[in-house]
Amino acid sequence: MIFNLSAQNTIANQFISELRDKDVQLDRARFRRNMKRLGQLMAYEISKKLNFKDTTIKTPLGQSSLQVISQHPVLLTVLRAGIPYFDGFLDFFDHSDCGFIGAYRQEGSAEIVIHLDYVATPDIEGREIILIDPMLATGKSFIHAVQSLLKRGTPSHIYIAALVSAPEGIHYIKENLHVPHSIYTCALDENLNHQFYIVPGLGDAGDLSFGIKL
Ligand code: URA
Repeated sequence: MIFNLSAQNTIANQFISELRDKDVQLDRARFRRNMKRLGQLMAYEISKKLNFKDTTIKTPLGQSSLQVISQHPVLLTVLRAGIPYFDGFLDFFDHSDCGFIGAYRQEGSAEIVIHLDYVATPDIEGREIILIDPMLATGKSFIHAVQSLLKRGTPSHIYIAALVSAPEGIHYIKENLHVPHSIYTCALDENLNHQFYIVPGLGDAGDLSFGIKL
């Protein structure tokens, strides 16, 4: 299942257009804030699919019955580009356990090479997890991340939360991810260029959020 937030006309499109705009995106604080706002909206969308349980609350004047999320999903993000988007999810899922994965792309090679060098996760066995990485380009960093997670336990469902996705990445995930999952993205783009950047995309999400790395 693929959910594309920009398939409907909502305020989200304003945030996505500002992230993409080559002049507006130079304002780093605004870039991070728009990432975070889209993380909040996506948390809301994913929350519709989670498990809920009955609860009754005592108000000062009586009782109110409603359904609340039975267990908050585990939030996992990929350093460093995922941080502002992840922050939006954390604003909504107050009680989530969180995990962090350090991954980087080896630049300059014809084949994209992804290295994972840091994995810190809570228990994920039997739990719903949201894997948060804004740029779904080749899909290889997502699959590498999932493979390292599966050594630690098998989640009941993986929500892949991207912000901009390329068809190549979606296809790679469909072919290589064999646990129950769904893909959530704010935008679905045309393709990858020869350096594996998403076109039209927005550029390097990590550099735009935090500055150019050495
Ligand atoms: N990572 C980015 O930051 N941008 C892309 O276009 C692809 C991967």
